[in-house]
Amino acid sequence: MDFSQRIQRVEPSATLAISSLASQLESEGKDVVDLSVGEPDFPTPDNVVEAGKEAMDAGHTGYTPSKGVPELRAAIAEKLQDDGLDYEADNVVVTPGAKQALYEAVQSTVDDGDEVVLLDPAWVSYEAMVKLAGGDLNRVDLAPHDFQLEPALDDLGEAVSDDTELLVVNSPNNPTGAVYSDAALEGVRDIAVDHDVTVISDEIYERITYGVDPTSLATFDGMRERTITVNGFSKAYSMTGWRLGYLAAPEELVSQASKLHSHSVSSATNFVQRAGIEALGGTEAAVGEMVEAFHERRDRLAALLEEHDVDVRMPDGAFYMMLPVADDDQQWCEDVLEQAHVATVPGSAFGAPGYARMSYANSVERIEEAVRRLADEGFL
Ligand code: PMP
Repeated sequence: MDFSQRIQRVEPSATLAISSLASQLESEGKDVVDLSVGEPDFPTPDNVVEAGKEAMDAGHTGYTPSKGVPELRAAIAEKLQDDGLDYEADNVVVTPGAKQALYEAVQSTVDDGDEVVLLDPAWVSYEAMVKLAGGDLNRVDLAPHDFQLEPALDDLGEAVSDDTELLVVNSPNNPTGAVYSDAALEGVRDIAVDHDVTVISDEIYERITYGVDPTSLATFDGMRERTITVNGFSKAYSMTGWRLGYLAAPEELVSQASKLHSHSVSSATNFVQRAGIEALGGTEAAVGEMVEAFHERRDRLAALLEEHDVDVRMPDGAFYMMLPVADDDQQWCEDVLEQAHVATVPGSAFGAPGYARMSYANSVERIEEAVRRLADEGFL
């Protein structure tokens, strides 16, 4: 077969080697502590599951309007308004997962040869999405700044020019857990407005923070008209497998993205969208409990690492922590998996060589076990 240039530009995920090695060890009967996962380890809240079942029983199993059922689009707009954002239901496209929303946003804004600026470390799929759209990447490294954006604003200002089409901001961040300050986001605003750049604000971890309250980028003056706000249900409501997310943006972007949306996925799954309405309105307590559990695990993991004199930057959100490791982080992660049976993700997958991403979406006991094994095998 003759494959497209477009698809050949994209490389297989750097995490593949680790996950296949982990599966192999498990099939040999080894007990692997998996700190590589990118999803909450909680079940979806019962009332959301019930709402999904009821929707199926009620016959909500056909196509929906492409951009989503009106009740869900209205509920999402209301949630965004509560966050101080100026969006109506017409500004919302409901997608099968935030990933699809990001894909549609990139496809709608990036042409062949357009420059897209990423803040490293960056979640793995942005690069692939930009390459699929034919864009060129320009990466700004936050690692020398403790993964914070505010001290990197000068670097960002130098990277962005009138030739920049798109900037992707992800706070709270995967893989670092950093939550960018208001001053950092104001800096982004100044740069984006100066150079007339469109910005994707990926806010999927927005509900999972510890003692900080993240501000949504499009609330800043001058940002609403140039921001595509992306969010989803996977992380906040432990709904990864339901595949439900959305983008919110000016109507002109919505009408462009809707073309790709309707010609590819048609719509998000009908009964899943109905369950999404319940998730937005009826899960305050369940989300609070999950965030509290993540908070406790974060503190425990950080304390254990500190006991071993490992200096980590304390994350303010999401459920990841970056561990400084050997220069060859890919090799380190493979060695750790083989010898200590602990699975982590090499930082180089996110543009952060020299680090490993540890997910603490796992029980305190398993986190303790992981650190014990790392220490016993001489990896700390
Ligand atoms: N953005 C970021 C930063 C993520 O970590 C993820 C999931 N790993 C997504 C978007 C996509 O989430 P989903 O498609 O499950 O909504």
